[in-house]
Amino acid sequence: MKIKAHAALTAKSSLTPFEYEVGELGNEEVEVKVSHCGICHSDLAMIDNDFHFSSYPLVPGHEVIGTIDAVGNGVSKKIKIGQRVGIGWYANSCSSCDWCTIGKENLCIKAQPTIAGRHGGFAEKIRCHWKFAVPIPDGLASESAGPLMCAGSTVFAPIYEFGVRPWMRTAVVGIGGLGHLAVQFLAKMGCEVTAISSSHDKDAEIKKLGASRFIATRGTNELAKAIGSFDFILSTVSADIPWVDYIQALRPQGRLVICGLPENEIHFPLFPLLAEKSVSGGINGSPSNNATMLDFAARLGVKPLIELFPVQQINQALDHVRAGKARFRAVLEM
Ligand SMILES: [Zn+2]
Ligand SMILES: [Zn+2]
Repeated sequence: MKIKAHAALTAKSSLTPFEYEVGELGNEEVEVKVSHCGICHSDLAMIDNDFHFSSYPLVPGHEVIGTIDAVGNGVSKKIKIGQRVGIGWYANSCSSCDWCTIGKENLCIKAQPTIAGRHGGFAEKIRCHWKFAVPIPDGLASESAGPLMCAGSTVFAPIYEFGVRPWMRTAVVGIGGLGHLAVQFLAKMGCEVTAISSSHDKDAEIKKLGASRFIATRGTNELAKAIGSFDFILSTVSADIPWVDYIQALRPQGRLVICGLPENEIHFPLFPLLAEKSVSGGINGSPSNNATMLDFAARLGVKPLIELFPVQQINQALDHVRAGKARFRAVLEM
């Protein structure tokens, strides 16, 4: 059988129609008929080989929503044909290491990204290990659920894993695809949320998502004045920002989580960290994190703001995201 998809045939190229042959479904594997797929900046980074592990032809797409089309041997009985599921950054893992055993497959050293060494969701169908096809609650529309699978997962996992609590004062740096979801998750949990952006342009829009305070960083001293303000800061930006200022904006025992991927190494002195502060990395959630995140989003109405593109406009949609024009996430309708 052949799967029709859209692929970059070489690094930095636009996507062209591409078909690839698949054999019988493997053990514990499912096949998903794709209805929607969000566009993430990591799709562009993989097309461009920015992470240095792309292989071509490369079918991007790792915010995949669709329905189960076929199941292989050994798939959990809770997965049914026709069921709606979502697939994020990971599509498989070793199933036997310490991390896989405790349901933290996202930390498995052999975890397989959905679009590296396998083909992603800009396609009519996609295959993955059944564990990574997470059921979508009825309350979530498919087009909204797409961006939750990577953008939502990336910001929710550290909020969950690092024990953010409702009484905490929190801040989100960068209000884009990831940031506008982080603001909603934290606000719905009951936290005080400060949105930190280069300007005050999006304040009114972000206030509607639940932020109550705003800091603009470009040409102001607002961040410097916020010294000792936050228990938890989640940075979603890929720019090189003044990290020491953000560490100083933490309260004692506060944590700065860096979810974006700045190009350059990060340097900071130890002294501002001494009050038991932490700086952490963040990674896409495990399937279990993602199930909790989707349930939370459905119950509390966390929803990405999206722009929908028909799949025929796939290259226009990618250009739109590349130009930084997406408000706040572009989603393809297959
Ligand atoms: Zn493993
Ligand atoms: Zn992503």
